[in-house]
Amino acid sequence: METIIAQITENEEQNQKIYEQASDILKRGGLVAFPTETVYGLGADALDEEASAKIYAAKGRPSDNPLIVHIADTKALEELSCDVTAQAKLLAEKFWPGPLTMILKKSDCVPKSITGGLGTVAIRMPSHPVAAQLIRTSGVYIAAPSANISGKPSPTRGEHVIHDMKGRIDMIIVDDTVDIGVESTIVDLSEDVPTILRPGYITKEMLSEVLGEVRIDPAIMGSVKPGVVPKAPGMKYKHYAPDADLAIVEGDIDKVVDKINALTKEKEALGYRVGIMATQETKDRYESGVIKVVGSRKDEATVAHNLYAALREFDKQQVAYIYSEGFSENQVGQAVMNRLIKAAGHTIINV
Ligand code: AMP
Ligand code: MG
Repeated sequence: METIIAQITENEEQNQKIYEQASDILKRGGLVAFPTETVYGLGADALDEEASAKIYAAKGRPSDNPLIVHIADTKALEELSCDVTAQAKLLAEKFWPGPLTMILKKSDCVPKSITGGLGTVAIRMPSHPVAAQLIRTSGVYIAAPSANISGKPSPTRGEHVIHDMKGRIDMIIVDDTVDIGVESTIVDLSEDVPTILRPGYITKEMLSEVLGEVRIDPAIMGSVKPGVVPKAPGMKYKHYAPDADLAIVEGDIDKVVDKINALTKEKEALGYRVGIMATQETKDRYESGVIKVVGSRKDEATVAHNLYAALREFDKQQVAYIYSEGFSENQVGQAVMNRLIKAAGHTIINV
């Protein structure tokens, strides 16, 4: 399949043509990748079962892993959900448009093929101007998971989407202003107590200020035990993983640096290339290996922004092992650690 690659520029007339072309593709049941403030999404008309089936095929995504429906107007809530709770309205007012996904009871118009057979639907209103404009111009609700091959790190740059999706989808809209770098916070409002199913830029504290009691699903940090059905079906799959074998080294930062230096030398002595996920504060203390600065330890948002690109760059450089420093689980740090732990397949070395 020929994939149209269109770059958003400052030429508004040309941009409008891009939105119109993409809208035609969506309305005809095709696939368009587009930037959002969290990561790039791979979109199709959410209410068209055949179109959304193509998303699963293009990504190699298991069919029981539901999709998030992207909207541009809160009115869409009433159409997509038969039970828009008072809590949902409060959160929409406070955090939309923005990096928050709400799980609500679905209405009949939402096909079960996009909810993984569940009676609930995931809904988000993105703030990225390109995403918002695409939803408005097309007039469709856009079902969109991250625009990567299933299991790989999510795309935060156009080049990542082109690498994974060129030849598999109809169009890629490129605008490298993806800011946050990790996927939206998911909060389940379909049961009694609001529960965070996936951490993101909107933290538990921010949600609690509006809602009062908020729980965190235990599957977020631990591994999902066999036989236990996680609430967000996506959580049971391997995710975000680079080709290399990734391990997180946690503990006092001086000991972490020493341990990573020792592990790196050990693997290099055996002839392997080794990647080190370092930070501004530690980068000069690593003695060998392919060293990438992912951000600053003082600001986890910088790490969130660069995390997936760093993992993909290690793949490009064909390292066999990656060692990453662990990060504090404050604020967006929890989202960073949630993604890193999954990418590492739960390999954590404590020092
Ligand atoms: P992605 O689109 O790649 O960001 O993944 C979407 C995430 O949302 C996956 O982890 C899904 O399991 C989760 N999700 C989507 N819809 C629902 C739902 N109705 N109930 C629970 N989790 C959901
Ligand atoms: Mg994803």
